[in-house]
Amino acid sequence: MTQAEPEVRDIAIVGGGPVGLALACQLLLATDWRITLIDAATPARAARDPRAIALSHGSRQLLEQIGAWPVAGTAIEHIHVSQRGRLGHVKLHHEDYGVPALGYVVRYGELCNVLERALGRATHQAGESRLLRVFETRIDDLHQDPLIGGDFDGIDAMSGEVHLTGTATDGQVARFTARIAIQAEGGLFHQQVAHAGQGSRHRDYRQTAVIGHVACSRPRHGWAWERFTEEGPLALLPYDEHGIDGYALVWCCPPDQAARRIALSDAEFAEELNAVFGDRLGRFTLAGKRHAFPLGLNAAPVTVDGRIAAVGNAAQTLHPVAGQGLNLGLRDAFALADSLRAGCSPRSLQAFASRHRLDRAVTIGVTDLLPRVFGIPSPLAAHARGASLAALACVSPLKHALARHMMYGMRR
Ligand SMILES: Cc1cc2nc3c(=O)[nH]c(=O)nc-3n(C[C@H](O)[C@H](O)[C@H](O)COP(=O)(O)OP(=O)(O)OC[C@H]3O[C@@H](n4cnc5c(N)ncnc54)[C@H](O)[C@@H]3O)c2cc1C
Repeated sequence: MTQAEPEVRDIAIVGGGPVGLALACQLLLATDWRITLIDAATPARAARDPRAIALSHGSRQLLEQIGAWPVAGTAIEHIHVSQRGRLGHVKLHHEDYGVPALGYVVRYGELCNVLERALGRATHQAGESRLLRVFETRIDDLHQDPLIGGDFDGIDAMSGEVHLTGTATDGQVARFTARIAIQAEGGLFHQQVAHAGQGSRHRDYRQTAVIGHVACSRPRHGWAWERFTEEGPLALLPYDEHGIDGYALVWCCPPDQAARRIALSDAEFAEELNAVFGDRLGRFTLAGKRHAFPLGLNAAPVTVDGRIAAVGNAAQTLHPVAGQGLNLGLRDAFALADSLRAGCSPRSLQAFASRHRLDRAVTIGVTDLLPRVFGIPSPLAAHARGASLAALACVSPLKHALARHMMYGMRR
């Protein structure tokens, strides 16, 4: 059965994850465009997601603009970066950057909850007719009318549409039409199709992140730890859950090790974590279930094609080292919404593409380089990395530039 085709809207957003929700919210508040937001699932999906996400101070500022702050979570005031078993480390402190915290660790589901509420308020303020929400409908195909001529002024004046076809969970075919479409359907590396085309980036790191919530006998308030090990980076992000002063663990290791660690008893797992991280935080105990996420880089060569743009994980899925994926996705969403103020057109999408190109390239470059450089097994390489960390700690301008990029991207 085929549903009746709805009216032509200005913008169709495919995917109501954190990036799609933030984009819809900002478009309602900052433009007059009529939006359709389509998601394959319902908001209950986000509540089941086990990820704890480190949001930067810059992301907090963006979320504040749309009324999606505060999000319940734990502040990161200091970050300690080191290499297991080697000298050389870098410390970052929030006071050095004049911010209350370098970042915040929040649950993916809690962030989506707060964004849903902000979107409800923005819709109420903008007018209910401005937003059409569609749940449980997976978009399978997008095609656009051809652009005629190469002149974007000409194109702006022309009519032309994007046609989206999807399947609802009850099997019905759903069709949507919009002047432009935004792909925000995100996803995880192992579920995605590799982007094709010259300039696309695809790398399987052969690492799986084991995540879980751990408690320890000597927690250090406000400190996050990023330790590079021979197997991959291990991050402990301060995160208090159910009144337990603990850490969200992101332990990246080869897939076979990850499978073995997932199968260990809680006590065995905690013991292995102690052996790898050391006793700086005392003895670890496990305070929740463990989950595994295979890791890779999957980046599209370009993020704009005529009337279609991609943001968030739909444009680039990154290694979680330095916690940049969603932070970059939120910057994408706000840069795009800002460009769309000028017009709902391919020209505005092109303006967005030029505007976020450098931020995207640098963030992809850094998050791709770190796990590879720290994964080189030779003792000489480990020594060189230790020396680089020590040098970075001493060369303040370089350290601060890196820290600022991790917080704000190229925003300032
Ligand atoms: C272990 C791990 C730790 C991480 N830690 C951090 C961190 O500390 N900091 C950070 O910034 N990032 C982190 N990330 C990355 C972050 O989780 C992602 O970048 C972020 O979730 C991307 O958001 P998104 O909205 O683009 O996509 P998603 O979160 O994947 O949401 C996509 C939405 O689209 C919907 N959808 C999917 N397909 C379709 C379709 N065909 N039609 C309609 N709807 C569809 C889905 O139902 C979903 O609602 C981490 C990732 C992992 C795996």
